[in-house]
Amino acid sequence: MFALQGDVREHLYVLERLGARTLSVRRPEELAQCDGLVLPGGESTTMAKLAVTFELFEPLRDRIAGGMPTFGTCAGMILLADRVLDGAEGQETFGGLDATVRRNAFGRQVDSFEGDVDIAGLDESVHAIFIRAPWIEEAGDRVEVLGEVEVAGTTKIVGVRQGHLMATSFHPEVGGDDRVHGLFVEQVRRT
Ligand code: GLN
Repeated sequence: MFALQGDVREHLYVLERLGARTLSVRRPEELAQCDGLVLPGGESTTMAKLAVTFELFEPLRDRIAGGMPTFGTCAGMILLADRVLDGAEGQETFGGLDATVRRNAFGRQVDSFEGDVDIAGLDESVHAIFIRAPWIEEAGDRVEVLGEVEVAGTTKIVGVRQGHLMATSFHPEVGGDDRVHGLFVEQVRRT
């Protein structure tokens, strides 16, 4: 669990309910002990800056590129994306996910909203909470779409998987529904 910034505790609660062994990662030695990583919601620019300060940026980028299962929610999705639109000047990401993510995509009027989203691999829809959320504007061929929402008559991608990487625009760590994390924990166990 990336623990330099963001809603770390909410993720830890879910992961522990699912029976995963968790570790808060703030330094490279801790990252080295992980079989999988969650990048939380929060502020992607701050997380990237703190990762540089704590000398985690390069090790994280290398582990993600090297196949460590990683799940990013909201700001975490931005950090996994290879390309960011409406990012802060010079915003850097860990990358790995062959996708273009638009930051704060839902716009000011609908800063935050909730809705039911069908997620591939789950029988019933997930009640999804979006907070200044990004969406995926373009996804490469290797990216599998897990979930979409309709915004002003167009379909926007809000959940994806690409091999060992998973990302959602929304916050499955909030609201008590552990099934999306369940998909990720299963993947870590298989790896
Ligand atoms: N807008 C935030 C960012 O750019 C993400 C918001 C969130 O994680 N809830 O990092």
